Amino acid sequence: MSHNVELFINGQWKAGVEGLTLPIENPATGETIGTVARATQPDLDAALAAAEAGFAKWREIAPFERAKLMRKAAGLLRERVGDIARQMTLEQGKPIGEAKGEVLSAADIIEFFAEEGKRAYGRLVPARVPNVTQLVIQSPVGAIAAFTPWNFPVNQVVRKVSAALAAGCSVIVKAPEETPASPAALIRAFADAGLPDGVLNLVYGVPAEISSYLIPHPTIRKVSFTGSTPVGKQLAAMAGLHMKRVTMELGGHAPALIFNDADIAAAVRNLAGGKFRNAGQVCIAPTRFLVQRGVYDQFVDAFVKAAESIRVGNGLDPETTMGPLVNGKRFEAISAIVDDAVANGAVLKTGGKRAAEGGHFYAPTVLCNVPLTAKIMHDEPFGPVAIINPFDTEEEAIAEANRLPYGLAAYAYTTSAGTAQRLSTRVESGMLTINHSGLALPEVPFGGVKDSGYGSEGGPEALEAYLQPKFVTRLDV
Ligand code: NAD
Repeated sequence: MSHNVELFINGQWKAGVEGLTLPIENPATGETIGTVARATQPDLDAALAAAEAGFAKWREIAPFERAKLMRKAAGLLRERVGDIARQMTLEQGKPIGEAKGEVLSAADIIEFFAEEGKRAYGRLVPARVPNVTQLVIQSPVGAIAAFTPWNFPVNQVVRKVSAALAAGCSVIVKAPEETPASPAALIRAFADAGLPDGVLNLVYGVPAEISSYLIPHPTIRKVSFTGSTPVGKQLAAMAGLHMKRVTMELGGHAPALIFNDADIAAAVRNLAGGKFRNAGQVCIAPTRFLVQRGVYDQFVDAFVKAAESIRVGNGLDPETTMGPLVNGKRFEAISAIVDDAVANGAVLKTGGKRAAEGGHFYAPTVLCNVPLTAKIMHDEPFGPVAIINPFDTEEEAIAEANRLPYGLAAYAYTTSAGTAQRLSTRVESGMLTINHSGLALPEVPFGGVKDSGYGSEGGPEALEAYLQPKFVTRLDV
């Protein structure tokens, strides 16, 4: 299978007008395995024109027909899961089982939004005078610019694209240059399902060049970005200058609160799974483990054991349970933030070093008693590192959970209904999962508060972000 990825503009796969490309690396071996086309301004102009024309066509197609086509794309993804997952693992590094799971869940996401699009109801508002009809109708907002990162190469794209298409919008996706092939396969599934030309366009290139050209452009009516908080703030500011709607799904630093009365075995099993999935490169990964003093040692011992049982290796090996970090830059960043924690007095329980040669393999790492002077207590590590600190009272745990400007996911383990109730209202996060791992389903909201962004990428709320309510009042004469 060729591993050279092209742009998709107005229904055509093509090289960039200037013929430029960027290399693609396999993070498990460090080898260059292909290239991705790099779009420049003429390509972006073509994509904008296509999205404008595509929107005019797509908005006229009834939601029932849109849903049929979307369901067909979901079916094609399921048929192609093996090839797409392999491409994803080659570029991103995650274990092949995780890659397959991601592609299959993408199909579920498409189907959820296909159905939800049928329910983009407006409303009829009782009028104050006879013969007046007051309608609120839902219109698609227009052409969307979507920017997505490399950690979930397919799912970050599919959430945005499915909601946008279901609402009747057209889309230009700027997918990740590090992991371009699997998102291209997703776009291909929509194209093969019969999506009209121009409705969905795909570009790659230099991210800042593309965002600074697309966001201000009058064709683009909404911006959706997933990535780091600093970049999200820049893009939101740019969108604000041009009065564009935005959805921002940014970084997190998720607290996991484990109380004395918790089922510790379940907490360790679920939270270690969540921590080391995708080598910790997950915005909702639990990061700050706050464990009540009475079960602290028990939790730490079991968690270290779970971390040490992980098999780090090439994601294509079916025995591997954790792959490499996505690139050398991420490896350096994780090494530096762990070294800084240790230099500040944190206790390194396991890991803290390279796990294997050849690729960007970093060992599952557990740090205990990490002081607030360490960078990792403030910055999102975005890697396979757990911080486990003790607490005494519920008040103290909630205060620590809310200390950072982030507020994406939060986790808690307790058998007290009262504690669970108080956490539900007092933990400042967009999502909270108590006693199990229940986040990120297509049918429920997915998003953050504070510096983790705003808007939702799941549930009916995600569809709303692509719809503009319009009020129409009519006097029948
Ligand atoms: P980065 O800040 O350089 O990039 C993050 C993402 O934003 C990438 O996909 C990148 O292509 C994109 N990006 C960067 N500058 C952009 C611009 N001007 N316009 C449009 N897109 C732009 O960081 P990185 O080294 O690639 O990733 C590390 C950090 O990114 C992590 O610490 C984490 O906070 C964040 N991240 C978050 C998610 C998420 O799911 N929320 C996913 C990946 C990365």
